[in-house]
Amino acid sequence: MENTRETIAPGSEVAIIVGCGHAAGELATRLREQGWAGRVIMIGEEPHLPYQRPPLSKGFLEGKTGLSDLFLKPQATYDLAQIEVILNTRVEAIDRTNRTVTLSDGSSLQYTKLAIATGGRQRPLPGADTARAEACDNFHYLRTLDDALKIRELLKAGKRMVVVGGGYVGLEVAATAIKHGLQVTVVEAGPRLLGRVTSPAMSAFFEQVHCQAGVDIRTGTLVEGLEFDGLRVVAVRSHAGERIPADVVVVGVGLLPNTGLAEAAGLAVDNGILVDAFCVTSDPDILALGDCCNHPNPVVGRNIRLESVPNAVEQARSAASTMCGQGEPYRMVPWFWSDQYDLKLKSVGLCEGHERIVMRGTMEGRAFSLFYLKGKRILAIDTINRPQDFVMGKRLVGERIEVDDDALIDESTPLNKFFTASL
Ligand SMILES: Cc1cc2nc3c(=O)[nH]c(=O)nc-3n(C[C@H](O)[C@H](O)[C@H](O)COP(=O)(O)OP(=O)(O)OC[C@H]3O[C@@H](n4cnc5c(N)ncnc54)[C@H](O)[C@@H]3O)c2cc1C
Repeated sequence: MENTRETIAPGSEVAIIVGCGHAAGELATRLREQGWAGRVIMIGEEPHLPYQRPPLSKGFLEGKTGLSDLFLKPQATYDLAQIEVILNTRVEAIDRTNRTVTLSDGSSLQYTKLAIATGGRQRPLPGADTARAEACDNFHYLRTLDDALKIRELLKAGKRMVVVGGGYVGLEVAATAIKHGLQVTVVEAGPRLLGRVTSPAMSAFFEQVHCQAGVDIRTGTLVEGLEFDGLRVVAVRSHAGERIPADVVVVGVGLLPNTGLAEAAGLAVDNGILVDAFCVTSDPDILALGDCCNHPNPVVGRNIRLESVPNAVEQARSAASTMCGQGEPYRMVPWFWSDQYDLKLKSVGLCEGHERIVMRGTMEGRAFSLFYLKGKRILAIDTINRPQDFVMGKRLVGERIEVDDDALIDESTPLNKFFTASL
C-alpha cells in the first residue's frame, strides 16, 4: 500500500496505530465498527498482517494450525474497511508538539489520535555468550511468526532440544517437541516451573506431567554459558557445572515491554506505558494498549501489565471507544490459557495474596480446578480440562461473590449456587 504524506486537512481526523500485532489489528477494525470516519493507518515493523501468537508455541509449531489460520483478518477486510496498512516499517519517533510520527523510511505522518500497540520483545538470555548464540541458526527465541517457522524446521525426531525457561511458552514448546520425538530438557532458574504465574501445587502438577511425558526438567538451574562449534550452539552449561548437549536451544525467559518510543516522547512509563482506565497515556491524544502498557485493573485493584490476548482485545475495545468519543472503561477480569499435551489450562484472576487453596476434581483424573481464596472471596482459579468451572469462575472472581469451601469442593454442588445465594 502506498504511504501517504500529506498534512491533515481541517476537519479530517487521522488515527495512527503503531504496531501491527494483536491489539493493533483489533483496534483498527473496532475503530471502524464504532464509527471512526477519518483515516486509520496501522504501521508495523513485521512483514505480516496482524496475527495470533498463541498458536506459535502450540498448534502452528505442531503443524496442526495452518499459516492462513493465524491471521486476524485477511487483507481484503482491511481494504474494505479502508484501513491503511504499512508493513516492514518502524515508527522511529513521536513528535508530540507537531503531532507527527517519523517512520523508518524517513517519511513522516500527522495524527489527530495516536495509539501505541508495540507489544514486547524477548528478554535476552543473560550472559556473555548470548550475542554469539543469536547469530547461530539453532538458537532461537519465540516471539514472532518468523521465529516459529525457524523452530518448526528444527523439530526432528531424535534431536536434543534444550528449552531455557519453564514458563508457559517454554513448556508448550517442550510439550510439542517431545511429541515430535525430540529429547527435551527444560532448564529453569527458579525453584519451580511457572513460578511467576501460579501456585506451587499447580507447578508440581505440570512438572509431573512433563516428567511422565519424558521431558527432563531441571529447576533451580541457572545457565552460565554456552558451548559452540563454529556457528552452532552444541551445549548449555549450568552454574553447577553440568553440560547439557543441545542440537536446538529455545529460550523463553520473559518479555520486555517496547516502551522506548513512548519514553523518548516524554510519556509516563513504569513497567509499561502508563494509561488510565480508558487506555489514555499522560498525553490525552495518545493511547496505549496491549502488552506494552500498564493499566489500573478494577478487579485486582492496582496497576498491572498483562501479556495476554484477552487483555489486548479488551484494551482495543476500550481504546476504540475512547477514540470515538464514547469512553468505555477497561473492565476485564484477567484471564489466560495454555495448552500442553491433553491439558487445557484456563486461569482467571491473580492468585497472589491467597490464604488457602481449595480443589475441585482430581489431579489424577487430569480434570480439576484450584480455587485461590482470601477470606470468603476467590482471588483466582486455575482450571484444568474443566471449561465450565472457568466460565463460572470468571463471574465468581469478577463479581467478588462470597463462597464457602465445602460447597466448592463438593462436586454435587453446582458453582452457580453461589450466585443465587448472594442475591
Ligand atoms: C509464543 C507465544 C505464545 C503465546 N500464548 C498465549 C496464550 O496461550 N494465551 C494468551 O492469552 N496469550 C498468549 N501469548 C501472548 C499474546 O500473544 C500477546 O499478549 C499479544 O500478542 C499481545 O498483543 P500486542 O498487540 O500487545 O503485542 P504484539 O502482538 O507483540 O504486537 C506488537 C507489534 O508491534 C510491532 N512493533 C513494535 N515496535 C514497533 C515500532 N516502533 N514500529 C512499528 N511496529 C512496532 C512488533 O513488531 C509487533 O508486531 C503468547 C505469546 C507468544 C509469543
